[in-house]
Amino acid sequence: MAKINQNYKKLQGSYLFAEVARRRVKFINDNPNAEVISLGIGDVTRPLPEAIITGLHAAVNEMAEASSFRGYGPEQGYDFLLNAIIENDYQARGIDIKANEVFVSDGSKCDVGNIQEIFSLDSVVAVTDPVYPVYVDTNVMAGRSGDYVKDLNRYSNIVYLPCHAGNHFIPALPDKKVDLIYLCYPNNPTGMTLSKEELKKWVDYARANKCVILYDSAYEAYIQEKDVPRSIYEIEGAKEVAIEFRSFSKTAGFTGVRCAYTVVPKELLAYDEDNNAVVVNELWNRRQTTKFNGCSYITQKGAAAVYSPEGKAQIAKLVEHYMTNAKIIREGIAALGIEVFGGINAPYIWLKTPEGMGSWEFFDKLLTQAHIVGTPGVGFGQSGEGYFRLTAFGSRENTEKAVERFQNLRF
Ligand code: PLP
Repeated sequence: MAKINQNYKKLQGSYLFAEVARRRVKFINDNPNAEVISLGIGDVTRPLPEAIITGLHAAVNEMAEASSFRGYGPEQGYDFLLNAIIENDYQARGIDIKANEVFVSDGSKCDVGNIQEIFSLDSVVAVTDPVYPVYVDTNVMAGRSGDYVKDLNRYSNIVYLPCHAGNHFIPALPDKKVDLIYLCYPNNPTGMTLSKEELKKWVDYARANKCVILYDSAYEAYIQEKDVPRSIYEIEGAKEVAIEFRSFSKTAGFTGVRCAYTVVPKELLAYDEDNNAVVVNELWNRRQTTKFNGCSYITQKGAAAVYSPEGKAQIAKLVEHYMTNAKIIREGIAALGIEVFGGINAPYIWLKTPEGMGSWEFFDKLLTQAHIVGTPGVGFGQSGEGYFRLTAFGSRENTEKAVERFQNLRF
């Protein structure tokens, strides 16, 4: 008899987005003439920049000729892309990352989800709260989470690091020993960042306690302020303790094309049952070469075009477009006396719901009074209760309309 992985039964599932969709559909059915604007989904809306389209087309044409056709490529990625990544994203910024420390993939979701499987099942996992749900759910599936405690909206074996206005969204170091630490900056959902000094505390903690930091930097391209770290490797010693995840999804509009990369420095060590040090890069290489057959040549050619002079200029414009939306939302809402966070170095605006109003209550008010759909903060974790996420990925027209409609809200 085939038996299931029992851990799957502990998953709290897609309650958040399913419930958002349910309430949205009900409202539309009850109010067929209402024009509902969605600022809820974290997906881009602008088309791919021209330089990338040109790169993709050229690669398609190469696939049509016997002389330039490509079959399976290197699982880790083609050299042309690996070299463009290390030269532009690291070496140009004074960070020494080598091509054999970079692994190209078809998305950061897979990488941040898969990475946990090279670590021991008894590893203690720490996440910030609120959190991108993939970090938690993949550890639930693997069996590291313990049981779900409904009253707390938390798993018993996961260490949650609350982030709220009271601590300026800066997670405190854990008060018990942990092994794996997920950090995401700029943060989804709060849109907040960590300074170099704050990030250094985590690197120092990880070095002192032999932990591994899993640093998700999917929104790095949105950083506007000069002193905000763009890579964890800007911090001294980070290569000994951190894996960094980067994605072309939000950087260059690749959510539908699919390309990302993960950096696993050769210095990074973890330990076997006899406390012997193991090079994590070799484990990840083994995992990828066993379970992944590489990102497509066409996609990688498109990603390489991101680093061409035209590509860089066009991507900067794309980011500027979304960040102008962020500014419109942030300033428009703040002007109404609502407390807002994020939206300066990230495409997410995290607002505080009015005193005494829960995330879902705010969701209903926003939907029924302003016909806007956002995401209730509590859906990202218990510390998100009383907060609400809006995204800057909508069209300019909808963004402006949505901000105007916020004025209709009556509490
Ligand atoms: N990491 C974070 C924090 C995200 O918000 C997302 C997507 O929304 C991802 C990773 C997934 O990125 P990708 O499209 O590369 O799978």
